[in-house]
Amino acid sequence: MVKAVVGANWGDEGKGKITDMMAEKADIVIRFQGGANAGHTIVNDYGKFALHTLPSGVFYGHTTSIIGNGVALNIPLLFQEIKSLTDRNVPMPRILVSNRAQIVMPYHILLDQYEEERLAGKSFGSTKSGIAPFYSDKFAKIGFQVSELFEEELLKEKTERVCQLKNVLFEHLYHKPALDPAQLLETLHEYRDMVAPYVCDVSLYLDQALKEGKTILLEGQLGTLKDPDHGIYPMVTSSSTLAAYGAIGAGLPPYEIKEIVTVCKAYSSAVGAGAFVSEIFGEEADELRNRGGDGGEYGATTGRPRRMGWFDCVASKYGCRLQGTTDVAFTVLDVLGYLDEIPVCVGYEIDGEVTTEFPVTAKLEKAKPVLQKLPGWKTDIRGIRNYEELPENCRGYIEFIEGQIGYPITMISNGPGRNDIIYRKSPLKR
Ligand code: GDP
Repeated sequence: MVKAVVGANWGDEGKGKITDMMAEKADIVIRFQGGANAGHTIVNDYGKFALHTLPSGVFYGHTTSIIGNGVALNIPLLFQEIKSLTDRNVPMPRILVSNRAQIVMPYHILLDQYEEERLAGKSFGSTKSGIAPFYSDKFAKIGFQVSELFEEELLKEKTERVCQLKNVLFEHLYHKPALDPAQLLETLHEYRDMVAPYVCDVSLYLDQALKEGKTILLEGQLGTLKDPDHGIYPMVTSSSTLAAYGAIGAGLPPYEIKEIVTVCKAYSSAVGAGAFVSEIFGEEADELRNRGGDGGEYGATTGRPRRMGWFDCVASKYGCRLQGTTDVAFTVLDVLGYLDEIPVCVGYEIDGEVTTEFPVTAKLEKAKPVLQKLPGWKTDIRGIRNYEELPENCRGYIEFIEGQIGYPITMISNGPGRNDIIYRKSPLKR
């Protein structure tokens, strides 16, 4: 049985918490895309952690945590992250790394930095972790697979060949010092020695696990709107954020994915550039940002303040549809308890016409939000465990949004902890 936990919007919806919670009943948790450029924040019995590369199952003794082939693997960061857990008394997790995962190279990170410098004001707001240059090289077929670290001759030849190519850019476009292939090879030897004990033929491992009836959880990074095909191109990430890609980025049959939990936050936030129709500004945004999440809406990796907005039914309906949602986990609802009235974006006005279907990027840039105000509940809903015990206006908010997006809200998260969850029977659940 394979389940996926993915985001409906721009990321930061609280997927880490939902995955950590669902990992309790999973045997395997696997990251299938993205790199260390985004982070999941998890609060559990060991404390508060920001994970960047490790799957959110690392806190349980019974789960195997896997870095899938679709991930952009930064080897030193992976080991730093493991150490940051064990330093805080988390038992050493059981980790496997796909032999087909590719490696974020030191020059990918440099290229990201140099390109952002070159673009200056016109930059995409990259986190400069080398993710875009990494995926460009993967598809240009000059990336390095983990398995190649163990083929010395090939490694040496390829390192020289790739440095020659990269140095054209380094010297002539960016006017920076050239790469030294011998030094790079040495770094790759270090990477090889670090990763060697964990390398695994992951698709074969998963095939066996499925035959044994194990439960596998696919953990996505970011959300639908950052998908390179279906998101707000070009303000997207470089690998697919969709549950469907879980089959590829882990090495599983697509028909094995039976449950797709799409995480939607009760309001919106986004990082980086790009159209954000329900965005709010000034004091209204500051207040929501500071009350948001668990200790404010600031990037888990970068500390950047996130852009804030009201819940966007148009974007979320689209986000859920592209994921193939079977269940919506509606998160961070407790944060909205301070508002008298809660605006919700129910449509986009584009060139004088109102639509509820999410458009392509050029049209999106012109969209103005159509807002509807719902009454607030003005109480703290943390600690509530039964749906019926939520204030009437709070249930009204949930049911209104469910009606707008058309996917069943079966989980409601009302706090950052593992137990802050309310299960709900939805009339839309098939
Ligand atoms: P992810 O990348 O999708 O995992 O999202 P983040 O790591 O940005 O998580 C969002 C933040 O909200 C984190 O600080 C979580 O601890 C916190 N969080 C998750 N669910 C809830 C919730 O229901 N209520 C509150 N108040 N905070 C939550």
